[in-house]
Amino acid sequence: MSYNKVNKDIFLKIKKLLGSDNVFIEKDILSQYSHDQTEDLSFYPELVVKPKTTKDISGLMKICYNNNIPVTPRGAGTGLSGGALPVKGGVILSVERMNEIIEIDTHNLQATVQPGVINQVFQDELKKHHLFYPPDPASKGSCFLGGNVAENAGGPKALKYGVTKDYVLNLELVLPNGDVISTGANVLKNATGYNLTQLIVGSEGTLAIITKIVFKILPLPKHDVTILVPFDSIENACSSVSDVFVKGITPCALEFMEREAVDLAMEYKKTDLKIGENVEAHLLIELDGNDLDVIMKDCEIIYEVMNSYGAGDILFADNNRQKDNLWSLRRSVGEAVKMKSIYKEEDTVVPRANLPKMISGVKEIGLKYGFRSVCYGHAGDGNLHVNIMKDSMSSDKWNNVLDKAIKDIFVLCVQLKGTISGEHGIGYVQKKFMNIPFDDVNLNIQKKIKSIFDPKNILNPDKIFP
Ligand SMILES: Cc1cc2nc3c(=O)[nH]c(=O)nc-3n(C[C@H](O)[C@H](O)[C@H](O)COP(=O)(O)OP(=O)(O)OC[C@H]3O[C@@H](n4cnc5c(N)ncnc54)[C@H](O)[C@@H]3O)c2cc1C
Repeated sequence: MSYNKVNKDIFLKIKKLLGSDNVFIEKDILSQYSHDQTEDLSFYPELVVKPKTTKDISGLMKICYNNNIPVTPRGAGTGLSGGALPVKGGVILSVERMNEIIEIDTHNLQATVQPGVINQVFQDELKKHHLFYPPDPASKGSCFLGGNVAENAGGPKALKYGVTKDYVLNLELVLPNGDVISTGANVLKNATGYNLTQLIVGSEGTLAIITKIVFKILPLPKHDVTILVPFDSIENACSSVSDVFVKGITPCALEFMEREAVDLAMEYKKTDLKIGENVEAHLLIELDGNDLDVIMKDCEIIYEVMNSYGAGDILFADNNRQKDNLWSLRRSVGEAVKMKSIYKEEDTVVPRANLPKMISGVKEIGLKYGFRSVCYGHAGDGNLHVNIMKDSMSSDKWNNVLDKAIKDIFVLCVQLKGTISGEHGIGYVQKKFMNIPFDDVNLNIQKKIKSIFDPKNILNPDKIFP
């Protein structure tokens, strides 16, 4: 597929439509929007636009569609799979100026938002009404709700409450040709036609631009407790996870961090948590609910399970500062790893009881190819983030072994009945591995869906499919 460049005529048309304050061609701005948080990848767009309304986006898409100009939708640019990279140049469509919380409906427990609202801002606003939106990616302080929908983002609380898809009731979309549609209705049940709402969730900006979202929201639980459990064996830490659920307890978060992940995060955050020399892994567990007695009883059952797997001294965070410190440490692992070495992060997911096999398999693959891996993630969901570290490996060797190692890791995921991304998406960097979880028949159906929405392949081209 060949695309046209944004020539002067098209530039002037877009500027007239959106207003000169919302259209950018300055080199430093193009540079700012040439990358997201995926490794050190960078692709320059020809133009960055920051429209303020659905009508503006519709008009923009009509111009781009008619002139064969690629458009890459962009939220906050925190993506880890390169979804917002303008790999074919063209226009970056940033929704950052569409950041209004349109309505919080306290009777129906629903909220309507524009896509550029920051996740944390939404959560803080809901809290004022004693309401709660559970999906809480570690990037919640900066990522946008539109980006969360496009990636079907998760986060620690996905364990008890589900991921973004479980909260999206209805979407307003602009299609690649500029048409505007609504995908469903603002209802909790809907058996009317194909479920376009859920098709768009996780579609990584390749099918349509999300311009309005209606979310289901919940009452805010009154209490929560956080505990940190050390283990002297990674395997014991991972094996204990599924037993917690078998005992009938569903924590709202159950996170795994191997020793190195915690050490790197402590170094990065300049925090000093006392950790015994033999400790190899931690589980960070949160329980919530409205009855503190019930929560404490559940905690006792968790203690029993953890002790049966040889846990060390469990830290019970007994004030908000301690809780915040523990969570801030967990949330900083990704950044901390990034500071340490060139790395490649994989977002593996397996049924949770297969987690011990997954992590021991990853370590074996590391030995085979000669790399260190730092693993952490949402253990309760079986979602393990595997960071393959370059460290002092030569660039030649790194380039030679990396794809082979990733392939081995992904094949292992699929053998263990899992898949190759739990929450970060496929985007640009994982597309070459899509034939591991899917056969040709499945991939062809997905490609046909893309071509129905976007027959000219102008919306976020060169993503998801090999
Ligand atoms: C430190 C760190 C921690 C993270 N932790 C988590 C985590 O715990 N859980 C998790 O799920 N993810 C996590 N992520 C990944 C990332 O934050 C999420 O994928 C997030 O949902 C991306 O949102 P964004 O606004 O930054 O989107 P962007 O990165 O800007 O875009 C992501 C994708 O969405 C598309 N898109 C964005 N907005 C729209 C729109 N309005 N319409 C259509 N398509 C759109 C883009 O084209 C792109 O394909 C983390 C990232 C970092 C850097």
